[in-house]
Amino acid sequence: MPDPLKSFIEVAPDSHFPIQNLPFGIFQPSESPARVGVAIGELVLDLSVLEELGHFRSAEFRGGAVFSESALNAFLALGRPAWRKAREVIQHLLAAGTPTLRDDAALRARALHAQKEVTMRLPARIGDYTDFYSSYHHAHNVGTMLRGPENALMPNWKWLPVAYHGRASSIVVSGAEVRRPHGQTKPPDAAAPSFGPSRSFDYELETAFLVGPGNALGTPVPIDSATDHIFGLVLMNDWSARDVQAWEYQPLGPFLAKNFCTSISPWVVTLEALEEFRKPLPVQDPEPLPYLRATNDFTYDIQLEARLETAGMDFAHTITRTNFRNLYWSIAQQLAHHTVNGCNLQSGDLLASGTISGPTETSRGCMLELTWRGANPLTLPNGETRKWLEDGDRLTITGWAQGNGYRVGFGEVTGRVIAAS
Ligand code: CA
Repeated sequence: MPDPLKSFIEVAPDSHFPIQNLPFGIFQPSESPARVGVAIGELVLDLSVLEELGHFRSAEFRGGAVFSESALNAFLALGRPAWRKAREVIQHLLAAGTPTLRDDAALRARALHAQKEVTMRLPARIGDYTDFYSSYHHAHNVGTMLRGPENALMPNWKWLPVAYHGRASSIVVSGAEVRRPHGQTKPPDAAAPSFGPSRSFDYELETAFLVGPGNALGTPVPIDSATDHIFGLVLMNDWSARDVQAWEYQPLGPFLAKNFCTSISPWVVTLEALEEFRKPLPVQDPEPLPYLRATNDFTYDIQLEARLETAGMDFAHTITRTNFRNLYWSIAQQLAHHTVNGCNLQSGDLLASGTISGPTETSRGCMLELTWRGANPLTLPNGETRKWLEDGDRLTITGWAQGNGYRVGFGEVTGRVIAAS
């Protein structure tokens, strides 16, 4: 195998951001506006500086100045030809053999920032957010708890990617604290519901993708062009109040149990960067209806972990180890299904996977499954136990695809639970 492409910027072998990745995000240095950057090692490359110097003037960019914006939406709307071209330009400028940036100290000082000295913002103005339910093992485990193993999956589950419409306004970027919500709860043996802070506070390990060019109202996206509408993926924690959910969810699905806060990672890993980690989608039985059958559908080999650090710990303990391949429905199927009735997606919309659980006990992607609704509490290395998340707990989700000598990583999405107000 040839040696992997290298940058003139030092990148550790276990870094999530080698020259093979180049994820896009919105960063803000102190005392200047937010703009578009790309992560490389421990640095951020400021694309607005390169744009100003004329590096993104080819036809694919259609004359727009998309990288001085404080959200990725304008760049997302340009579509895959512009995304590929931008990646090619950036990869060339960062390559070990290219002198443009490497040998120009003044330009490097302008265009490169230490990640630890900038603030990351939400990558896009997210107009709409949808959360799928696409992991077989998650759906099966939750269904088993609610209805028993014989009726674990609802009859529709293997025929369509089940989803609900979430709330975009409460999506926050990694690092934000999450406040324990209040709500109505009713234990099965109680005569009437009561009101107070949720006592079954949970995380959900998910990924989500950002929509690139949208589709016109009334015009479904055929499955074989679905990925033309998908820019890239982030990690997501769909914080959940299980006791609120149990009482409110029938018959219309999740509402206040989910929409108080959803955290995403700041760096968007593009489908281009993930291409070498594609795997065939496992055979689906029953065969889906024709509109959900792609010519070459695929999944990705992405390792995913959730780590818990309580206020009494000085390290994060891994409680979930799973993989993106545990998703039954592909991202192309999710997008094709979402638009098949003519529903219009728009640039910056966020479509999430649902909790990604695998077949083993340690690959379960939320406390609900890990502790089986609190019946089997987790014991942490310092002796503490958890049925659910407690105030002061920090939950961090991370993920990466392992290449030959480098990692294409997502960084992390982290948040600490704080007490109800
Ligand atoms: Ca979810």
